[in-house]
Amino acid sequence: MNVYISGGVFFLSTKYFIKKTNIYKQLVKKMADINNGSDLNIQSNDALIAAVWHYLHEVQDPEIPVIDVVELGVVREVLYHQAAQQFEIIITPTYSGCPATKTIADDIAAKLREKGVTNFTLTTVLSPAWTSDWISVAAREKLRQFGIAPPEAATADIQQLKPEALRIACPHCGSRNTTLISPFGSTPCKSLHRCQTCLEPFDYFKCH
Ligand SMILES: [Zn+2]
Repeated sequence: MNVYISGGVFFLSTKYFIKKTNIYKQLVKKMADINNGSDLNIQSNDALIAAVWHYLHEVQDPEIPVIDVVELGVVREVLYHQAAQQFEIIITPTYSGCPATKTIADDIAAKLREKGVTNFTLTTVLSPAWTSDWISVAAREKLRQFGIAPPEAATADIQQLKPEALRIACPHCGSRNTTLISPFGSTPCKSLHRCQTCLEPFDYFKCH
């Protein structure tokens, strides 16, 4: 987690963001540290950046309601442009053309307005492309508990082109004695599998 303060503009580097599930608490603590005994003149809008991150955590993924759009890694950055007095929320869709992308953008805008934040723009950035590696560890566990097999390491992607290699670990019992039923599950982002050990069908959140 890197925090940069320069020229009154407060930037958050999201480089390591996805690995920090309690980002909001950390950020608030960081800002408290800065504000306590620091001669830096932190503007009140900076506190609102932290609040914006917090609000974004309340926006559920439209397809997987147990995780939020920050945990999903879709929200890349929250910037505050001092001159324009405007927030900029940078999002990267899980994959180009994902039907959930517009819903996510709409949900983010609605949430911010609901919270009284109106001076913002949403910017969609396609590069670098979203990768399932950006899904936080905590979010993976939530997926598993929800009965969705979380994405396996992106390095396994090539292997998954072979149907026989699609032995995804069952989210219910952990068995890898599973078979692919359909390359598309309840949404295009998921494939449908069945566990031969516990006989439960399950969705797998596909890697990109
Ligand atoms: Zn099973």
